[in-house]
Amino acid sequence: MLTLNWGSASDVGRVRDANEDSWIAEPSLFAVADGMGGHAAGEVASALAIAELAELADEDSLDSASVIDAIDRANERIVDASLRRRDRYGMGTTLTGVAVVSEGGRQQWAVFNVGDSRVYRFARGSLEQVTVDHSEVQELISAGRIDRAAARTHPRRNVVTRSLGSRPAPIADLWVLTPAAGDRLLVCSDGLTNELTDGSIAQVLESVPDAQDAAAELVRLANEAGGHDNVTVIVIDARDGDAAARAQSAMPSSASTASRTIAGDASSAES
Ligand code: MN
Repeated sequence: MLTLNWGSASDVGRVRDANEDSWIAEPSLFAVADGMGGHAAGEVASALAIAELAELADEDSLDSASVIDAIDRANERIVDASLRRRDRYGMGTTLTGVAVVSEGGRQQWAVFNVGDSRVYRFARGSLEQVTVDHSEVQELISAGRIDRAAARTHPRRNVVTRSLGSRPAPIADLWVLTPAAGDRLLVCSDGLTNELTDGSIAQVLESVPDAQDAAAELVRLANEAGGHDNVTVIVIDARDGDAAARAQSAMPSSASTASRTIAGDASSAES
């Protein structure tokens, strides 16, 4: 058995007037949406995406197909809403996250992505970006024309090439991962990754044991680095059920940290 513990934090940052990020952190579903569009329309688009996904959180058992279907419905909802009001025309949002799904009789993580918010996996001391950004700078990186360091300051670094709220409907990327005890997943908006290098993010994930504390620390550091954008962070820990119980009795987690035991195969974690 694996136990999931998670924490989340979101902040408007130091420059923007409003927080257009939306997010959900429920036992089977963790997602971040970064809205785009003037006059608060971005906020509406990201909230619609999360509201559509949130309906999945009530299901007893999820599979990857139901997650993809929900993303398609979210796109339609945003397109419909954008056509009904002139000031919302063209609004859109990124959407990325992790759903606990049942595939082939076992629990897996389905990581999904549209846009340039990200999911990372931190395991055995190393940080790996699971999602691939749908952005102009990622295309330049993939073509070998710029490196990741240059992408961080590129003038078009905020231009996404796929987002919800478009027709034809964007295709969501999907990865199915086997949960392993000791894994730590990070779901975040670009307000984090535009301020902090992967190295700085890894350092926090390595050194701050509690998921809620780690999420709050990452948001604090993004603001300290300038806070140019809204920033949203979810940190999810998968731990061996017994080890988690021992840790909790030794050191009670903070009130905002949630946990849930999922059926998983901890022994496969070592493979
Ligand atoms: Mn953003």
